[in-house]
Amino acid sequence: MSIFELPQLYRDVKAEAQAVAAEVAPFAGEADECSEVHAPTLAVLRASRLCELMVPSAYGGRFERVDPLAVCVAREACMKASAHLDALLALQGIGSYAIALGGSEAQRRDWLPRVASGDSIAALALTEPEAGSDLKAITTTLRPSATGDDEFVLSGRKSFISNAPVADFFTTLVREPASGEGEEDDYSVVLVPADSPGVRISPSPEIIAPHVLGEVDFVDVVLTSDHRLGAPGRGVAHVLATLSVFRSSVAGAAVGLMEGALEIAGRHAAERQQFGRPLVRLGAVANLLADSWVDLESSRLLAYRVADMARRDPATTLDHSSLAKLAATEAAGRVVDRCVQVMGRWGLIKGSRIEQYYRQARPMRIYEGASEVLRLGIANRLCRDIVRTGTPSGAQY
Ligand SMILES: Cc1cc2nc3c(=O)[nH]c(=O)nc-3n(C[C@H](O)[C@H](O)[C@H](O)COP(=O)(O)OP(=O)(O)OC[C@H]3O[C@@H](n4cnc5c(N)ncnc54)[C@H](O)[C@@H]3O)c2cc1C
Repeated sequence: MSIFELPQLYRDVKAEAQAVAAEVAPFAGEADECSEVHAPTLAVLRASRLCELMVPSAYGGRFERVDPLAVCVAREACMKASAHLDALLALQGIGSYAIALGGSEAQRRDWLPRVASGDSIAALALTEPEAGSDLKAITTTLRPSATGDDEFVLSGRKSFISNAPVADFFTTLVREPASGEGEEDDYSVVLVPADSPGVRISPSPEIIAPHVLGEVDFVDVVLTSDHRLGAPGRGVAHVLATLSVFRSSVAGAAVGLMEGALEIAGRHAAERQQFGRPLVRLGAVANLLADSWVDLESSRLLAYRVADMARRDPATTLDHSSLAKLAATEAAGRVVDRCVQVMGRWGLIKGSRIEQYYRQARPMRIYEGASEVLRLGIANRLCRDIVRTGTPSGAQY
């Protein structure tokens, strides 16, 4: 296999996702302006087999373990057609990965097959009104109940949670206050069914690129130890493992967005004439297009390479996943801005595909790790590697 060629398995996954994307394309413009779930898009996703990519095969999924490279290429195809489709697909994995990782056999059997079929909608609840990048500042708390009967009480508010209004369950990061003096609080992950008494959903503010978001209040929700995903204190590890697998797929989605934007701008530059020649023959416009293609292809190579690393060993790839996400989402911001510039006033038409891409690129640099926060982790890893081994890891081809 050439290292520059995607193996057939992944080309097949991409073709499968492209076929799903083609079904959504006729109404993607409308779906991408929805802050509520767009029923026809969800119906297409459910009728496809794409959600199987998000679950291990023992529980109705496609591959033995969730394959980050398959997720990456599927999201690339979906995002190019519709951000709404991409988000629905991605959240099935992001919201359920902790179940595959730390859930009991009963929890896996109960939830994962329904996630794989798209019948149950997943959500991951980390962010709070006062805790975004600084996740250890969360105040949503799990405390033993006064009854003492293996019962716990969950209280707090999660904010900007994708899929919240339609989710069937919330994989939720909680704080467990230390029981003894001088001990540290634990962070744990619990699975909260959305129909639990005390779970209340309200709308989040609408954002520039509409997204299905909600605020989730947990008002004295009673849980038992059966709702835990993994041992107490494993919460942050589960969140990092989820990000390690799925951050490279945000890079894949950014690649899809860049490709879509560049196709529109490239066609415009080839067809529109100014000063007696096509725009592409005006040097400054050629620069915009050429630099964008470089950004696209270099982001694609890094995304595939890192997703492949995460496929082999997800436990050690968080920093590289961050690297791919940082590179591709920052590139997407540059590329879509250049594409709008290439199109002149035609890049500014409200609701046009290029204008939607322009808005959709922006949140990608904030969610699942804002760029500045990713840079901190990446730089730390770089220096640690150099001090330990003399070279950054990943340099050894
Ligand atoms: C479309 C969308 C979907 C989302 N979906 C979910 C979801 O499903 N589940 C969920 O839990 N959350 C979700 N979020 C929330 C998202 O994870 C947070 O927005 C993100 O973690 C950043 O947190 P914040 O917005 O509070 O920004 P802040 O943490 O307040 O950061 C503000 C700015 O300060 C910078 N900054 C922060 N800390 C540092 C630092 N140490 N060094 C340097 N710079 C720093 C950041 O980079 C950023 O530029 C979603 C957000 C969006 C926009």
